[in-house]
Amino acid sequence: MAPTTLEHAFSKDSPSTAIIVPGSPALSVSYQKLAADVKSFQQQLAKVGVGAQAAVSIALPNTYEFIVSFIAASWQRAIAAPLNPAYKQSEFEFYIDDVSSAIALVPKGAYALDAAAVRAARNYNAAIAECYYNGREVVLDVKETGKLAGKSSPVLSAQPDDTALVLHTSGTTGRPKAVPLSHRNLLRTMKNIQATYKLSPKDRTMLVMPLFHVHGLLAGFLAPLASGGSVIVPSKFSASEFWKDFIQHKANWYTAVPTIHQILLRNPPPSPKPQIRFIRSCSSPLSPKTFHELEKTFGAPVLEAYAMTEAAHQMTSNPLPPGKRMPGSVGVGQGVEVKIFDDAGNEVALGKEAEICIRGDNVTKGYLNNPAANASSFTKDGFFRTGDQGKQDADGYVIITGRIKELINKGGEKISPIELDNVIAQNPAVSEAVSFALEDEMYGQDVGLAVVVKKGQKLSAEELKAWLTERVAKFKLPKKIFFTDIMPKTATGKIQRRLVAEAMLKKEE
Ligand code: ATP
Ligand code: MG
Repeated sequence: MAPTTLEHAFSKDSPSTAIIVPGSPALSVSYQKLAADVKSFQQQLAKVGVGAQAAVSIALPNTYEFIVSFIAASWQRAIAAPLNPAYKQSEFEFYIDDVSSAIALVPKGAYALDAAAVRAARNYNAAIAECYYNGREVVLDVKETGKLAGKSSPVLSAQPDDTALVLHTSGTTGRPKAVPLSHRNLLRTMKNIQATYKLSPKDRTMLVMPLFHVHGLLAGFLAPLASGGSVIVPSKFSASEFWKDFIQHKANWYTAVPTIHQILLRNPPPSPKPQIRFIRSCSSPLSPKTFHELEKTFGAPVLEAYAMTEAAHQMTSNPLPPGKRMPGSVGVGQGVEVKIFDDAGNEVALGKEAEICIRGDNVTKGYLNNPAANASSFTKDGFFRTGDQGKQDADGYVIITGRIKELINKGGEKISPIELDNVIAQNPAVSEAVSFALEDEMYGQDVGLAVVVKKGQKLSAEELKAWLTERVAKFKLPKKIFFTDIMPKTATGKIQRRLVAEAMLKKEE
């Protein structure tokens, strides 16, 4: 029978390797051992009072401890709420409060350090526990019982519609929204990803994305594990260690955001090149130029996918060969229905641009404590409105043209910043370009552009404008060009146009 909860999603008796944590020596964990460590951690959670649908904030880096505590929380019918361990006090407070956390898990030693996560959990009266691997199993060391004081819970079993995970959206278009995802949602995405990339026990993936977002959690970790393959888990992404670990631990694919692909292009693998079955790119637009460079340099098919937190990650992807890969497109719906609807909720004609909407068992039932967003996020047919603008061709390939909230509205003329970025990225002196809306007295909004020039190259605003005049309509030309050494990005390497705009305007002051 097909599994319906995370408790049955992984093999519990396979002797093959589930997790490898690089290091000297590397930690290599079989599926049998992983299941035993998870069971033990589940019992420890139950003992300290973590019961049905209690939120477990996991403020741990990419570690074996994260993996075990995440799976154990889900087996215990609790809700895992991973957090970026680099957050500061006020950020931890916001997230711990927003999910009404019962317990916060922090790294060993964090309590003694009175780290920000610990202080935040204490303010909120969540229990606080340090987590560490003692060489035999992962230990839950409760430092403060907080609101769980004196309680204990039986060991439980989750149901398919229980919430297994709460994650916040990236906050690109406003305040981050809390998204509950059920076991059913997660299992559907895991299946969709396994099917898209034909994942098997022979596959070994390098996890480079953080586990506190859906990209790393679902595509980099849960789907490969459900396929019986091996996941290599360095504590953080390092360009200099990447290929060493990749080769030593015989990885054959990885998934990452375009920023990481670009870093790896500048630090290519030594020869003989490792055999890479495919490279997956997701979460931000991959320019056709980077797509071609990647395929050429790494000798592997590059498959761009499209995902969001509300969809438990993946919605569409380009297929493996012999399927057609279309640079600049995020591919076709993968176990997810995709339609393009106008504002009134009617499907538009093929090739016409409007809002990308999706439907499937992977999609959240609705945001946590946000009735206003829930009322406006679903169409009458139960399709989820992604907030992204795009079009679909006759073969179902989706092209994202921008975010509805990010489109630059110049006196009623809508300009797609992604389209502009892709054109400007082709200038030989440009290393990165991000366009955004500038407030404008005359038009309401006009085009601002932030540019990083390649090392050793020179480029003036006039030269760039002259070059661009030949390639885009006059109304799309940037009103202001800001040159910068680094492009501001989020923890996962995503571009947030709002933040880029703020940073550029601040620089100018
Ligand atoms: P918020 O919803 O809080 O404004 P966010 O939408 O950035 O933040 P996420 O759920 O992390 O939060 O990201 C989903 C979004 O990322 C998608 O709606 C889409 O705009 C963008 N995205 C994902 N994959 C791609 C891709 N391959 N190309 C272009 N954009 C992508
Ligand atoms: Mg969003």
